[in-house]
Amino acid sequence: MDVNILGRIKRSMNEDIKLIYYSNHDSLYNFHILGMSGFVYHVIIDKNFQECNCEDYNKSHFCKHICFVLFKLLKIFRFNKKSFEIKVPFQNTLYKTDFFNNLHFSELEWLVFWTKFKNIKIFIKTSFFNYQDYNSFLLLYNKYLTYIKNQLLEPKEKCVICLDKNDRIIKCPICKNEYHLLCLMNWFKNLKSEKRCPTCTNTFWDELYAPLLYALDYKIDIDLIRKIKN
Ligand SMILES: [Zn+2]
Ligand SMILES: [Zn+2]
Ligand SMILES: [Zn+2]
Repeated sequence: MDVNILGRIKRSMNEDIKLIYYSNHDSLYNFHILGMSGFVYHVIIDKNFQECNCEDYNKSHFCKHICFVLFKLLKIFRFNKKSFEIKVPFQNTLYKTDFFNNLHFSELEWLVFWTKFKNIKIFIKTSFFNYQDYNSFLLLYNKYLTYIKNQLLEPKEKCVICLDKNDRIIKCPICKNEYHLLCLMNWFKNLKSEKRCPTCTNTFWDELYAPLLYALDYKIDIDLIRKIKN
C-alpha cells in the first residue's frame, strides 16, 4: 500500500479534525470537515467516487478528510497500525479492500457505508463534533438557499466586472447590477474589510460571504461560519 495513504490515515485519526455538518442528496453523501488550519472542507462520498475541495485532494485525489470520514467518523474501514492492514468490519479476511485497490466501494463496503450513515448519530462523538457549529452551518446553508441558489439567473445585461454575457449571474438587490458569482468573489477577495457591492458599495453581500463561498464549493473559514446570524 502507498505510504502516503497510510500517512493520511494516521493524521486523520490523530489530528484535531472535526465534523461540522453532514447531509445526503440522492446518492451523494456530504460531510463538512473542520481542519486544523481553521478552514472547513467539503467531502463528498459516493459509491464510485470520493472528492474533497482541499489542496491535497487537488494534487493527489486523496486526502486526510476523506480518511476522517471512512476511518474515524463512520469506521467503514478499520486500520491496524501494527500490521498496516485495512479491513472492512464484518469481513475480516480483506487485506486489500476493493476500495483501496480501485478507490470505489464494493457492494459490501457500500452497504456498510450506507447502513452506518443512516445511523450516523450513533457514531458521532463530542470529541469531534459540536452542535453549535452544526447549527451555524445550517444557518449558512439556509442563507445559501434563500439568497443565492434561486437568485442565479440568466443574464439580461453584461457582468459589470468582466463585461461578458455568458453564464448565470446574480443581481445586487440594491443597484440591480449583474455579476458572475466568480467575478464577484474575485472582487471581494481583494477587499480587506467589508464586502461591498462593486458598483453601489452597499454591504448587502458582507453577511452572505460564507454562503457565497459555499455556492462556489470553496473552503470556508470557520470564523465566517460562526459569525452567521439568523
Ligand atoms: Zn480534503
Ligand atoms: Zn463576470
Ligand atoms: Zn449594488
